[in-house]
Amino acid sequence: MDRREIAGLLAYVGRLDPRTMRTTTEELKDQIAQWHELLDDVPLATDHGWDVRAAAKAHVLDSPYPILPVDIARKWRAYRRDRLDRHTDPTPAADPDNPTAWRAELLGTRHAVATGQQQPTGQRALAGGPHPDVEARLRAIGTCIPQAVRAELARYRPTRAAREAAITEGRPDPLSVRCEWCHAPEGEPCRSRRTGPDGAARGNARRATPHPTRVDLAGAALTRQETAA
Ligand SMILES: [Zn+2]
Repeated sequence: MDRREIAGLLAYVGRLDPRTMRTTTEELKDQIAQWHELLDDVPLATDHGWDVRAAAKAHVLDSPYPILPVDIARKWRAYRRDRLDRHTDPTPAADPDNPTAWRAELLGTRHAVATGQQQPTGQRALAGGPHPDVEARLRAIGTCIPQAVRAELARYRPTRAAREAAITEGRPDPLSVRCEWCHAPEGEPCRSRRTGPDGAARGNARRATPHPTRVDLAGAALTRQETAA
């Protein structure tokens, strides 16, 4: 707070507790100088819960003694301490091989949190969401798995690869609908059931290709979607 803000605060405090009012200009100047000395690094208000008028009012409500500048300074220190207690340093975006920049960013973030310019960052596990860098990359690629790795994996997951290929090429994806023939649910490959002479099921193997009726159903569903869009 600068001197002008201190004078405003003193006028406010004087209305709440007339004992703090000074009568002569000389006394008022002294009082402003004394308060400024202790409170010049305390902001008037921050976006995150600090308001010097609220702190002054709380003192007047809580204490029978006239307010002193140190009462406000102590509340400000408690506010800073509480915020830093709730802050766990997020990994800086700076290059870790550049210790100066790394340290500067770490301290800068702490200072911003302490002085109420920024909200504290909780435990990463609870804070949710990946680092902004990773998020931007994910948005650009659209998937956590890079294309090259995805191509390598294709032969180990033929069903998935066939679905992705169908979607990319704009063909109907048979697995997007339930199979009316073998009752395989959505997303599951078709199964061939063989029945033995005694009527009991003898096999339940996954089929590499879906049943033809399912392909037709998916085609019809895709056409419906396209006409609706
Ligand atoms: Zn089927």
